[in-house]
Amino acid sequence: MGAEVLELDLQMTADGALVVLHDPILNRTARGPEESCTGPIDALTLDQVRTCDAGSWFNEAFPDLADPAFAELGIPTLDEVLARYGDDVSWYIETKKLLAGEGMEEALVASLEAAGFTPDAEATQRIIVQSFDESSLRTVHALRPDLSLAQLISLGERPDAQRLDAIAEYADGITPNWLDVDEALVAAAGDACLTVIPYTVDEPSDMVGLLELGVHGIITNHPDLALPLVAERTAAPPCA
Ligand code: CA
Repeated sequence: MGAEVLELDLQMTADGALVVLHDPILNRTARGPEESCTGPIDALTLDQVRTCDAGSWFNEAFPDLADPAFAELGIPTLDEVLARYGDDVSWYIETKKLLAGEGMEEALVASLEAAGFTPDAEATQRIIVQSFDESSLRTVHALRPDLSLAQLISLGERPDAQRLDAIAEYADGITPNWLDVDEALVAAAGDACLTVIPYTVDEPSDMVGLLELGVHGIITNHPDLALPLVAERTAAPPCA
């Protein structure tokens, strides 16, 4: 669909593999052997998770859009996704809080470096790491101060100037819920030299309204609808 940036979520298996999956619990979107494809993903090994079918749930939930081929889809590792699309797009990689265990940030940095996103590489400018978890972002910042980071903001949490200044200590932008974005928030973020890229905007009229407020990108399920609007109206980053 021509998207310029891929947004993805990270989970980690019990044996420390990073996989690209939204939910920390497998039940909603995985099908397969119960011992391998239900419960918290961080209690299972990568070999177990490899046995799961990650497409059938979609066919069950959206019969009008179902395709038997989706049942062949598995849960990919971050390394596989970076290898497939790494040269073509930019990345918004979201670290998730683990239910148990730790080490996601170290594993992410190792995967990025193995894929060529090293501190000196020009390609590294195509990476943004985001999280709702401030401590995760501060860990990434300590490991790799060159990486661009974005603080995800929950719906209804309106960061004030003090909070935005604190975010600017480690991050380059905020990712707020689009319903919270108004002129005052964009201005306050700009005063803290933070970009504003709202999630998840699927109606073109809403996209236009946000772009006119001066946001720096749009996270959407419909990149084909967003692309022509973003190309025409995206604001330059603050303090660049
Ligand atoms: Ca996400």
